[in-house]
Amino acid sequence: MSDGLKGIKTVRDFELKGKTVFLRLDLNVPMDKEGNITDETRITASLPTIKYCFEKGAKIIIASHLGRPKTSADRQYSMEPVAKRLGELLDLEVVLMEEPDSEGVKHILYGPMKNQIICLENLRFDQGEVENSTELAVMWTSYADIYINDAFGASHRAHASISALPEMMQEKGVGFLIEKEIKMLDGLFDKPQKPYIAVLGGSKVSDKIPVIEKLINVVDGFVIGGAMAYTFLKAQGVEVGKSLVEADKLKYAKEMIERIEARGKTLLLPVDHITSQAFGDTKNIRVTTNHQIKENEIGLDIGPKTIELYKKYLAEAKTVFWNGPMGVFETTEFSKGTFAIAEVMAANPGTMIVGGGDSAAAAEISGFADKMTHISTGGGASLEYLQGERLPGLEVLRKRKQSESSTSTPTF
Ligand code: ADP
Ligand code: MG
Repeated sequence: MSDGLKGIKTVRDFELKGKTVFLRLDLNVPMDKEGNITDETRITASLPTIKYCFEKGAKIIIASHLGRPKTSADRQYSMEPVAKRLGELLDLEVVLMEEPDSEGVKHILYGPMKNQIICLENLRFDQGEVENSTELAVMWTSYADIYINDAFGASHRAHASISALPEMMQEKGVGFLIEKEIKMLDGLFDKPQKPYIAVLGGSKVSDKIPVIEKLINVVDGFVIGGAMAYTFLKAQGVEVGKSLVEADKLKYAKEMIERIEARGKTLLLPVDHITSQAFGDTKNIRVTTNHQIKENEIGLDIGPKTIELYKKYLAEAKTVFWNGPMGVFETTEFSKGTFAIAEVMAANPGTMIVGGGDSAAAAEISGFADKMTHISTGGGASLEYLQGERLPGLEVLRKRKQSESSTSTPTF
């Protein structure tokens, strides 16, 4: 594992009154074509840190990226709707700054700033952000006293607002969201309550191998669904028709089954499926009677018997980590398996953690999100963290500023 929060300050450790805080948030929310925010989880998850800084009398500059714009002319990626929503939720005036190096920012910062906070335009409107530009970072240091990273979902990227900027700052730390994320994710490896079950699904085994390799040491059992299940079933010689199978991972799947058995752990695979003849095909849906699938069919969700089996097993768990939907949940006809997992977790009083972008979205849509212990907002970052990778955005916060550490080294 990584070192968690070791050596990293949190927003609580700073005297914020009158100071300008550069608050890197992950406000990268999904939007529809009309620019309406379709899921504001990341905004609401960011509120505690903003409110804390505001209540402590800090001057706040919020910075985030949004989508993947190519240039600042890609106006559909403007932070405008986000800034507007933030203003409503905080009941403050959120001033959107087109040009981060404009006199406007300084003008506002040096004024009284009563009920205002600043929000910079989409960081990725400037190419320097993804290039980890020092120049951009220097410009920000001209007005920031304290750097706080609360953008867990962006902390696996060495971008200017995540890496170059804190590299140059002396006063830096994390916000409440990252603190919670790390504590929750570390808790999955540090004396989790048993029985501990990992529910894995989603599209590819290959995406999940590093996580499986970490989890195999700590969990009591795996529950497998989604497209991933078909590689495992096929490895056992089961007919899976046209279902998604990763041919180059069959050997891995076979070995993994053996390793799980050798350790006396449980592995549950689907015993029936909801199938159809193509991805978007809702006309030829069939519920199989066992784990075999016909030649012209694709498995698109776990079947009712599997749901019952998984629900029963998960009801006994004290800790569950879930990553990866059980089926193509984006289509109603293939969403039952995924929502059933969300339901049984919601009813379980144990530690129930959801990770992964699509899984978090599925948990939200299921209506059971607020019953989970924690839904990671990190998407890819949470998986990288769980795999034991060091996130650039966290590592830089452990480091002292270059000049500072060199002067403190005694020279003989
Ligand atoms: P997460 O983002 O939570 O880590 P993944 O990205 O690994 O999850 O997987 C999500 C995707 O897996 C969804 O888009 C879903 O449609 C797809 N999926 C789930 N089951 C199947 C299946 N049986 N066949 C094809 N795709 C599937
Ligand atoms: Mg995904």
